Amino acid sequence: MILEHQYPALLLNADWQPVQMHPLSTISWQDAIKSVVLDRVTIVSEYDIEIHSGKKAWKLPSVLALKDYVNRDQQPTFSRYNVFMRDKFTCQYCGRGFETRHLTFDHVIPRHHGGVSSWTNVVAACSPCNHRKGSRLPKDIGMFPINTPMAPSAWDLYSRARKIPHKNLHESWRDYLYWDSELDES
Ligand SMILES: [Zn+2]
Repeated sequence: MILEHQYPALLLNADWQPVQMHPLSTISWQDAIKSVVLDRVTIVSEYDIEIHSGKKAWKLPSVLALKDYVNRDQQPTFSRYNVFMRDKFTCQYCGRGFETRHLTFDHVIPRHHGGVSSWTNVVAACSPCNHRKGSRLPKDIGMFPINTPMAPSAWDLYSRARKIPHKNLHESWRDYLYWDSELDES
């Protein structure tokens, strides 16, 4: 009996780049088999595990590539995670890097002063900086974001996400990740 969360398949776009880096685009083995049957994907690599269905035996795919390209060039969603990603998990006031759970959001123009929740008014901030700034305007306390907040392109986020290491990767996935970092090191 193979459980649903076991043996996920890494899903690549038609250009053999992961569809998404964070969270990494993976699908369950059941969806992987379905996609193969529906001829939507090419099997790139397989696990050493077979399942049997009727008379057919299937090796579970570990890496799949979509046959049709999924467009990545859409405007990224304004979400908590994407703001952190845009700001490289760095407090935009003290410039230090933090894990997600230690980061908060700061409204550059506080809501109290009419500031809205948008790409151009929300930045990642650590708790101490966020507290210090409170609901004051940047000019009143002399705290300005290191980078002027802007809406990122999908490519901005994607290239940043590529540089973040993942845990528990199947070895067959590694060839499709980390081009940049490995090339940077050599
Ligand atoms: Zn800070």
